[in-house]
Amino acid sequence: MKSKEIRLVSRPVGMPDASNFEAAEVDVPEPADGEVLVQNICMSVDPYMRGRMMDRESYIPPFQIGEALQGGAIGKVLKSRVEGISEGDYVDSMFGWREAFCTGSAEVDNLGQLSAPASAYLGVLGMPGLTAYVGLLEIGALKEGETVFVSGAAGAVGSIVGQIAKIKKCRVLGSAGSPEKVRDLVDDLGFDYAFDYHDGDLLAHLQEGAPEGIDVYFDNVGGDHLEAALAHMRPMGRITLCGAIAQYNDTEPAPGPNNLLMAVGLGLTLKGFIVFNYIHMKEDFIRDMTAWIESGEVKYRETVYHGLEKAPEAFLGLFTGANTGKMVVQLTGGQGT
Ligand code: NDP
Repeated sequence: MKSKEIRLVSRPVGMPDASNFEAAEVDVPEPADGEVLVQNICMSVDPYMRGRMMDRESYIPPFQIGEALQGGAIGKVLKSRVEGISEGDYVDSMFGWREAFCTGSAEVDNLGQLSAPASAYLGVLGMPGLTAYVGLLEIGALKEGETVFVSGAAGAVGSIVGQIAKIKKCRVLGSAGSPEKVRDLVDDLGFDYAFDYHDGDLLAHLQEGAPEGIDVYFDNVGGDHLEAALAHMRPMGRITLCGAIAQYNDTEPAPGPNNLLMAVGLGLTLKGFIVFNYIHMKEDFIRDMTAWIESGEVKYRETVYHGLEKAPEAFLGLFTGANTGKMVVQLTGGQGT
């Protein structure tokens, strides 16, 4: 069968644009013994993919010029020559950015039949949901009743961080990039205080929203957000270093926070993490998150672009705040779409 795919044709310098990508059509082979043929239903675009567009050593190898990009995708098995995987099963893979693919069974995670929309497995029940769970409960060592601040609060990870913190009876502050996002956080997701980071002084917002200070800061943004949070932490506070999206397109290294010394006097812990190193927490996460979704304690938002050709636009939209909740690209119809 034929499949379209999106390739990286040049490495972005600064903010990526459409010229860094091209669409191509390829023939997908028939599955041999031990292989499956899969049609993707939906695929993820994520901020970390920006790092993979650079030719540098990291925790994950760089994308190669002229080759299809990769990323999380949920697909349906069209043909299977693998015991334990049947035609019609749904699989999770890293073969996003293409419509269909043929691969060995070790490269896919068989989900069987889905109990939630396929896109949820890329967001609230997938990698971003696990990131929120691990980052807040394990890395941030959150305790009931504490005060939490999360930046990028209206995004895939941030919106779940805030809601888990509410379940743990915490006071929750969030920053986001528009008045609409701020309203959604407070009115629909239960945040106690949210603000548009374009509007006014970050530290003044934190002082207003958390007069007693912050116990856990979940950092998705870096830069000025990290500096403001450091200036308003409580003694023995924890900072989860999850990401720094404000810096991903910098062409020069950004200056560090000018007040890191606060961490000494206050006994703060700053800890980074990569979610892939915490897969052992997935079972607990799926159990808890499924229950929270069912009880209505966690709601999730998605912004959906339709068609593979829209994937670069969806990816670029992560850097302009085009998404509320998880940014997803829908590729075909199918169960749970
Ligand atoms: P989001 O769904 O939050 O999408 C990105 C959001 O970032 C945008 O919607 C935009 O929202 C915001 N943003 C973009 N540019 C800026 C900027 N210059 N300043 C402030 N906000 C900005 O993405 P994810 O939830 O998938 O990821 C959130 C963070 O978590 C990222 O830093 C990502 O790299 C990190 N991450 C880390 C993982 C780990 O293992 N450590 C795993 C997964 C994600 P707005 O309108 O509010 O500006």
